Order: sequence, then C-alpha cells, then structure tokens
Amino acid sequence: MANLRQRQITESAVCALCKTHEEDTLHAIWSCGEIACVWNSLTWFHHVVTSPPSDFTNLLSSFLQVHDEYYAEIFSITAWLLWNRRNAQHFGRPVHPLGQLCSMAGDLMQEYLDAQELAPTPPPPVMQQWRPPEPEHVKLNFDAAVFNALNKAGIGVIARDWNGAVIGAMSMPISLSQTVNEMEAMACRKAVQFAKDLGLQKVVIEGDSLVVINALSQGHGCLSSYGNVIDDILVLADDFQWCEFHHVKRICNVVADMLAKKAKDLLGVRVWLDDLPEDIQPLVFFYVH
Ligand SMILES: [Zn+2]
Repeated sequence: MANLRQRQITESAVCALCKTHEEDTLHAIWSCGEIACVWNSLTWFHHVVTSPPSDFTNLLSSFLQVHDEYYAEIFSITAWLLWNRRNAQHFGRPVHPLGQLCSMAGDLMQEYLDAQELAPTPPPPVMQQWRPPEPEHVKLNFDAAVFNALNKAGIGVIARDWNGAVIGAMSMPISLSQTVNEMEAMACRKAVQFAKDLGLQKVVIEGDSLVVINALSQGHGCLSSYGNVIDDILVLADDFQWCEFHHVKRICNVVADMLAKKAKDLLGVRVWLDDLPEDIQPLVFFYVH
C-alpha cells in the first residue's frame, strides 16, 4: 500500500488488517499486529531476530546469516504464505486461517524435501550467481543505471577477491549519454581506473553489456560513439599483469547494478573500502555463499 500511494495510485497506505499502521513490506510480512500469532508460534525466530528490523532487507539478512538453512527456508515459505494470504484477502478470495500457516509451511517444506530425495541427480545448475575469480585475482563488476526523470545516470563498481571478500566499491553520478552502451563503457573505464587506484595487478573486469565486452575482446573501439572510451580502457588495461574482460548475465551483476542505482542520490563520487552500504551487504552475502 505504501508503494501504491507513492505512485499516487491510492490515497491511503493504511494496512487493511490492523487498520492502524502504514503497510510497507516489513509491516505486511512481519510487524503487523494481526499476523503476530504466526511468528510468535515459532519461538526460535526470536533467537534469529533479536532486535526490531529496520526494513525487510534487514529482516531477510538476519535469516540468511544463520548457518542453519532450515531457518531461512521456513522463514521464506512462511513469508510467501503470508504475502499470498494478504493478496487473496485484498481481492476477496477465500483464505486459510492464520493459525494454520506455520503447519502449512512445514508441510510444503517436507513435500519439497521428499521430492528432492525422489528426484534423480539434477544436472549442474546454470550459472545464476556471481562467481569469484581464480586465486590471486580480483574481479571487478561494473554497471550503469539511467535516471531519465532526473536527466542523469549513475555507475557502480564492486571489487571482490577470490574468496568473495569485498575490497572496495564505488558509486558515482554521470551525465546522461546518447546510448546505454556509451554509459556501460564509461562504467567499465571507471572499473579499470578503480582497479588501478586500488593497486591491483591481476584483474577480471565483468559486466552485463555484451556490446562493450565484445568491443574490448576484439581489441578496438570500432566506429561507435564511445570508441574513444573503449580505446582508453584498452590502454589502461595494458598496465596490469593480467586483465580480462568477461560478460555475465544481469543476475550475476546485481551488486554493481545496485551501486549504480545508488548514484541517484549522490552529488559526487562515493567510495567504500572496508565497509559497504548497509542495504548492499545482504546482497553481497547472498550472491557469494
Ligand atoms: Zn497491519
């Protein structure tokens, strides 16, 4: 409801269940008093979430950081059931009583586990998440984001070592260019410069722009509007002991994308070295482990 109101689709953001608080994601799934009985019936949740979460990302990261996968799984299924129940109620469809939700989550979990045992060995998964580089190498992911309404764009870079540990991250606003490829090329150049600033020697530069990565692999900037940027990158890349350019799916480039989007509210370049922005942390954790 809070999102709908922000987009001016509704006037009120009040929760339809408790009719007192604003309904944001955290409220709908976790903090609404009307659904408290669901989470309260699972006493071990209080060991995982020791203080009130600030938002849903924060709540989710509490579960992802617990080593026992069971916690995260039951949490996810219960949250999914609550969200579906909330939508069914919203559209006037029949719903299960709240008191049954936890046992339903347990049943679904068991059904899933049974199916895993019966199923033949699955084929190796398609690479759907970020992979660390070879030992002694550092991988830098870059991305660009466009903010049309603000007439500007942003770029984001994250550097991680072969253990997945973050070495540095950056986010900066840039002026809007003619094409997305041009901005992707600029993000790539920034990633290479960032690697140099960090004093790295063996690097893999990874992005989800096939056009830019292809241009770099072919070793020339062609006649494109950003050909000079590609040439710059190739000159910079010559100084490293090792430098490769890889293309990945967007899903493997999520953290760089988030950092690029962060530039929306920035006036200048922002660099993080030992720390990371709080909202990015759970993503990094999620995509490494
Ligand atoms: Zn409520």
